[in-house]
Amino acid sequence: MNKTKNEVRIIIDEAICKRCGFCIEFCNARVFEADKDGLPLVKNLDDCTNCRLCELRCPDFAVQVEAVDNE
Ligand code: SF4
Ligand code: SF4
Repeated sequence: MNKTKNEVRIIIDEAICKRCGFCIEFCNARVFEADKDGLPLVKNLDDCTNCRLCELRCPDFAVQVEAVDNE
């Protein structure tokens, strides 16, 4: 399958995340949606631009953005 961009994997550490919503707000691509408790869920990964703002702005280092190489 042809890929137009690198795939990205986003990992949220639920044990560390304090449900502040910063990552949801800072993501211009609207990749996240909060669940009923405010935990960010990855809903729209195809639109992720790998800008890493969510990772950089998380006060608790609970977000990890990884580029996945598809060869
Ligand atoms: S890396 Fe950027 S585009 Fe992707 S989820 Fe995080 S803030 Fe959104
Ligand atoms: S910015 Fe970090 S602590 Fe806040 S909701 Fe997102 S993952 Fe959780």
